[in-house]
Parts: sequence; structure tokens; C-alpha cells
Amino acid sequence: MNTDKFKIAFFDAKPYDRAFFNAENEKYDYAITYFESRLTKDSAPLANGFDAVCAFVNDDIGEEVVDSLVSSGVKILAMRCAGYNNVNLYASHGRLPVVRVPAYSPYAVAEHAVALLLTLNRNTHRAYYRVREHNFSINGLLGFDLHGKTAGVIGTGKIGKILMNILLGFGMKVLAYDYYPDEKFAEETGIEYVNLERIYRESDVISLHCPLTPETRYMINAESIEIMKRGIYIINTSRGHLIDTSALIEGLKKGIIGGAGLDVYEEESEYFFEDKSDELLIDDTLARLTTFNNVLITSHQAFFTEEALSNIASTTLHNIDDFINGRKLVNGICVNCDGSKPCPGKPCGKNCPK
Ligand code: NAD
Repeated sequence: MNTDKFKIAFFDAKPYDRAFFNAENEKYDYAITYFESRLTKDSAPLANGFDAVCAFVNDDIGEEVVDSLVSSGVKILAMRCAGYNNVNLYASHGRLPVVRVPAYSPYAVAEHAVALLLTLNRNTHRAYYRVREHNFSINGLLGFDLHGKTAGVIGTGKIGKILMNILLGFGMKVLAYDYYPDEKFAEETGIEYVNLERIYRESDVISLHCPLTPETRYMINAESIEIMKRGIYIINTSRGHLIDTSALIEGLKKGIIGGAGLDVYEEESEYFFEDKSDELLIDDTLARLTTFNNVLITSHQAFFTEEALSNIASTTLHNIDDFINGRKLVNGICVNCDGSKPCPGKPCGKNCPK
């Protein structure tokens, strides 16, 4: 390794990460070392002597890992994702700047949410296998027209808005809930902001697009499921812990939930992104979920398009370039805010918008 180069320890590296980051790195010529292991307190010492660490959604950047990175001389943590609920920002505050990729392709995620919905509703996942077995019966594959039905969208940021536009294109009525409603968007499009209870009571389909926070954790739980319309579809491409999976399973068993499209799962970090086909599936909840033919699970792949991977690589390396050259970290995250809205607390002075 050329010791003059800025050194990046890249955790949880997959072949597609290498391909896109190597191509983008031709502009910068950083010394990137790819580690296949996820970043945890056990693997954190691998970052010793590196200038930067690049991590992803299922890495565990708790207090111990932050302490370890700081004492190893790491100067910046570059998350190559939008969400940062896996980073202890209180531990990193003032010691380790954290940057992220706030938007890489909201279209990719919104389109995947629609793919899950359409597959569930029209049973194309089951039809595919039937026809391959030369079973041309359509019994049991009955769906319903989305046209005229009600969609509830929770979280109306970048992804939620794109999804709502697609659903409006289907002729659905769209109800929305957000901490910060965008009334101008509502006026322009005809969607309606309502409270969560109305979303739960009136929707035929609910799609989750808010971040995981203490308030949103387990927002889909036994109580909210109990008041939902019978046969509702729940789509989650956001974060697994938004749904209490045990309550979801009960809702499926009672027939309240007509189908679930899940790109995320609360205990996904042990499984998602990995080939475990030679191992026993010891997570009983995940095993139970896979037994329902009206549950469609994908392995956190909503973001996985060429455009998104290319944007992730370019923003991440540009974030690091900002740091090296002493520019403002426009994609920095501070303990009080994500840098995209006025900071609700005492600004850290570095990453918060003034
Ligand atoms: P965004 O920041 O543009 O939008 C999030 C919205 O949620 C904002 O409008 C915010 O006001 C709202 N919100 C915050 N707290 C809320 C609360 N308590 N209740 C309701 N709304 C609340 O983010 P985005 O780019 O649209 O991404 C949304 C989520 O999608 C991310 O947080 C991330 O978890 C997830 N995501 C998943 C994938 C994937 O591959 N599956 C990829 C990217 C992002």
C-alpha cells in the first residue's frame, strides 16, 4: 500500500461495491482496502492505521466501535447509505465526523416498494412457479384493482413522494402521515395528510417510508394492526424495527393482514446480504415468515440499481474529499439533526446548517 495515499477501510464489502467504488476511485486514487467482514466491535481493530472507515446499513457502530475507531486514528466515518440508526452519534459527537449519502436513488426504493405490492396483489411470485411446473390453474391467485383503493404512506420525504406519485398514477386515493407534512405537495397532487389512526383504519395498502427513531420503532404493532382493514397489504422498505414482527405474524394468522412485502426485517443483520443456503435457519420468526405464501421477503435490495450504486460511490468518495480538503461536510450528520432541516438542538457547529 502506498503510505502517502489517504487510506480507507471498507467494511462489509461485496463484489458490486468493489466494482462501483473502484471505478469512482479512479478520480481520487485513495488506497481502499476491502474487508468482507461487517464492522463490529470484534472487527473494528482492522481499521487500525486507516484514515477513514466506510460502513453500511448492518454494520454496528455503537459506542465501543466508535471508541475503537477513534483510538485507531480513524478521522472520518463515511456511511455509504442514507439511514444512520446503527451509528451512536452521541459517542461520535465532536470526535469522529460522520457523513452519509442522503439520497442515492429514491426512485430505486419507491419502485421496489411498488414491485412488492404488485407481486403480492397479483400473486406473480406464485404464478411463476406454477407455470414452471406446468400448473396453469389460476385458482387462489385472485387480486384486486389498485385503482380506486386507498394507500396510506407513512413518511413523505424523497422516497415517499415518488411512491405517492406512482400510486396516484394507478388511480389510488393517497392518505399520508409525516412529522413535517408538505402541504404544498398535498395541494399540488391531491394527497391528504391525516393522523396515523386514519391511515391504519382506512388504508387498503400501507407503505412505510419514515426513518427508524424511538417514536417510529414498532409503529406497526398489535394495537395498530387490530384497527386495520381486513386484508390490508403492508409494505416495508424502510427499516425492520418499524414493525413488531410477532404482531405482524399474528395479524397474518388472523387474516387481518392480507399480505406483507418486506425488504427489511428487524433481525436482518444476521442474514440479509449473505448466502446462508448451506446453513440452518435458526431465527424462528424469520422461518415462520417464510412459510406464508402472502409474505414476500427481499433481502434489503430496494436500493440495488446501477444508478443507486453509482451515486453511492460518487457521493461517498466526494464526502471524503470534502473532509480532506477542509470543506463544509454538506452530508455530515450531527447528534441533533441530519443536516437537512434546521437543527433542533445546540448546533455542533460543523455539520449543522446555520
Ligand atoms: P427522507 O429523509 O427524505 O424522508 C423521511 C421522511 O420521514 C421525512 O419527510 C421526515 O419528516 C419523516 N419522518 C421523520 N420522523 C417521522 C415520524 N416519527 N413519523 C412520520 N414521519 C417521520 O428519507 P428517504 O430518502 O425518503 O428514506 C426513507 C427511509 O427509507 C430511510 O429512513 C431509510 O430507512 C429507508 N431506506 C431504505 C432503503 C432500502 O434499500 N430498503 C434505501 C434507502 C432508504
